Amino acid sequence: MFTIRLAPGKAARIEAGHPWIYRSEIARVDGEGEPGAIAHVRDSRGRFLGQAMVNLQSQIAGRLLAREEAPIDSAFFRRRIQDALGKYGRTLQGPGASRLVFGEADRLPGLIADRYGDVVVLQLLTAGMDRVRGTILESLRSLLGPRAIYERNDASSRRLEGLPLTKGFAWGEGETAIWIEEAGLQFLAEVAEGQKTGFFLDQRETRQVVRALARGRDVLDCFCYSGGFAINAAAGAAASVLGIDISAQAVSWAELAAQRNGAARCTFLAGNAFDQLRGFDREGRRFGMIILDPPAFTKGREALAGALRGYKEINLRAMKLLAPGGILVTCSCSYHVDGPTFLDMLRQAAADARREFRLVEVRSQAADHPILLAAKETQYLKCVVLEAVD
Ligand code: SAH
Repeated sequence: MFTIRLAPGKAARIEAGHPWIYRSEIARVDGEGEPGAIAHVRDSRGRFLGQAMVNLQSQIAGRLLAREEAPIDSAFFRRRIQDALGKYGRTLQGPGASRLVFGEADRLPGLIADRYGDVVVLQLLTAGMDRVRGTILESLRSLLGPRAIYERNDASSRRLEGLPLTKGFAWGEGETAIWIEEAGLQFLAEVAEGQKTGFFLDQRETRQVVRALARGRDVLDCFCYSGGFAINAAAGAAASVLGIDISAQAVSWAELAAQRNGAARCTFLAGNAFDQLRGFDREGRRFGMIILDPPAFTKGREALAGALRGYKEINLRAMKLLAPGGILVTCSCSYHVDGPTFLDMLRQAAADARREFRLVEVRSQAADHPILLAAKETQYLKCVVLEAVD
């Protein structure tokens, strides 16, 4: 029997509901299992804690699947997927886009499934999930009846699991540029070339917050990707909207979407947001609303200090560029920067900018990206809405 035994004192976090076992917490391995095989997990005294997918090559060596001894077979995965799909809104109905399965928080660690209209986009991020690929594909196919399933197994985190980076249609075929609809607006999701699985589904609800606050304002959307916030600001009757992204391809998708939505007030620019913010400051430009939604500045704990300097720099610059009464919508998707740390960084930036702000709202990811209370990593998206008090 493939079994891992934890070092003394390392069971408490797992027992409290956290699904990850770090390699450094494993004291002993009995039997042999290929990367991703199911192992029994026991505490230092041999007490059974549950069953996990185990990959000793990865720093996150175990991902707990079940706390009981029941067999982990095709029926098990199908049931778990069915549970996830049973949640509100998780169907393929209509031209929308949403998350269907969110890994750990849906008790399917390493598995992401999103839908863009009737196309499902899949990510198998761990050796454990990669091993059961056939079962996952078959379950999604029979439970949802999609037109096609596209696999985005090119996420760099797969390397940490010793897995190759690949992508392509796993089942069915068709266009990879898919127009989807969200709150009455159309966006282009390029599921083969786009970031993540094609669109930032996690910001869906915050896009509506931006739309509701944008009226009459000159809006700057830094890190705009395919125009999600910018086009919502235009739909919310912003006076003008400028979107900036370093990727010319993302800007071209944003322009197509602005055209399709008749958002003539939107202009987009391919450039570095850090440089542009600096330039606007020199020119004395002011904006009534600034959105900052940068990529994760760190994926590891060791780079935290540098990441916080990056966050502070862009937030400080944005705070200075706000017109009186201006609104800053500022986000971080680095899960190592937790909510309190992010707010502290904003306090320091505001002090340096010598401006006072009202904290309008603290937000997180959209509801189809659920959060596990015991695993704070699952609450990776922070989003703070500030209003300049002057
Ligand atoms: N706000 C977007 C998602 C942003 S993701 C949405 O809701 O859809 C982060 C984006 O930042 C990516 O599109 C990436 O191309 C862009 N980016 C990364 N570094 C950048 C930089 N230095 N300047 C401008 N854009 C950058």
